[in-house]
Amino acid sequence: MRTVFSGGQVFDARGRTVAEADVAIEDGRIVDVGHHLDGDRSVDATGRTLLPGLFDCHVHIAARHIDVWRLLQTPLSYRFFETARSLQETLRAGITTIRDAGGADLGMKRALEDGLISGPRLQISVVMLSQTGGHGDPWLPSGAEAPLIPTYPGMPSGVVDGPAEIRRKVRELIRDGADVIKVASSGGVLSSGDDPRHPQFRPDELEVMVTEAAAAGRWVMAHAQSTIGIKNAVRAGVRSIEHGIYLDDEAIDLMLHRGTFLVPTLVAVQGVIDAAAAGAQIPEPSLRKAREVKEAHSDSFRRALAAGVRIAMGTDSPITPHGRNLRELALMAEQGMAAPEALAAATQTAAELLGLQDELGSIEAGKRADLVLVSGDPLQLATLGEHVEAVWKDGVEVSRGRLASPSAA
Ligand SMILES: [Zn+2]
Repeated sequence: MRTVFSGGQVFDARGRTVAEADVAIEDGRIVDVGHHLDGDRSVDATGRTLLPGLFDCHVHIAARHIDVWRLLQTPLSYRFFETARSLQETLRAGITTIRDAGGADLGMKRALEDGLISGPRLQISVVMLSQTGGHGDPWLPSGAEAPLIPTYPGMPSGVVDGPAEIRRKVRELIRDGADVIKVASSGGVLSSGDDPRHPQFRPDELEVMVTEAAAAGRWVMAHAQSTIGIKNAVRAGVRSIEHGIYLDDEAIDLMLHRGTFLVPTLVAVQGVIDAAAAGAQIPEPSLRKAREVKEAHSDSFRRALAAGVRIAMGTDSPITPHGRNLRELALMAEQGMAAPEALAAATQTAAELLGLQDELGSIEAGKRADLVLVSGDPLQLATLGEHVEAVWKDGVEVSRGRLASPSAA
């Protein structure tokens, strides 16, 4: 069965252009892009545009929100059902591939692959590595521990110190199915006891992570906000800097030299402020840090963009609710990224970051038929999220029409 999307436009992620073209798909693959194509079945794309299936390179799909008090009162297994809903909402937004930055496990990935639940294809990191007292340490001043994701079989603690423990933990995560290793090489905003300006883990510890991951054919992604934490991670050879709040010129040069990607997650900082305004229980130090880092973050993004650092789209959802991922594209455009470049950050560049560029990230013959049909002007990124009409993954229509506004629960 050959299906042709006819009469519409296509976003060319390589050329960064939008032009009229038909697209033919068969057996889950794109087989032709051209004019006046024939097929057994046709989808009328008149007045609409086809985008490649979009990527979100930084989500926490197994978390529904960041309200610690609510999380503490939620049964563990309830959260797995919530995850199924979050996956659906993400798919409906046009996101057909996600990289999970902590919290998703092998069971979720396998359930997706086997069709028990539907959602974007998924790369998992299982849990983020954190030093004692670092960004991922769930310890609270009361002595209680409140992890965003509790430990269970296949979801170990990520708190480790020293090269020997780290080596063992990376191996354990790979045993647990990690596609990528995630580390916090600096403090963060949501962890109330540390500082985004401080580096975490020493260079020798980061090097062990990268070496051990590479031995198993994996890359490392680094939550890195502090300038030193960013440089340590880049020098150790991580694949991507997540957030990158305090980038100086040397950090940017290092990233260019090493080919390190930046996943800015601009929407995350605003999301913390918005969630608190909507009544979520966010600790006061976290809220204060969110307000403090906002300007530095935008400034770093603009300088990295101007310097030509490879930028891939990520949101840190659910800091903003799942399904509203495309808000990030609007924020990137607001900070000076040209709209076609922002779309490329969520398609071609993202596919490169995840090592999937031969299969996904552009609409070309031979690639997987992940497609998003949008109405209106696809370069008006502020409203793109409202214009997603239908989504195909591996040639199968997985979403038609989206909820006016995904529930914020
Ligand atoms: Zn994150």
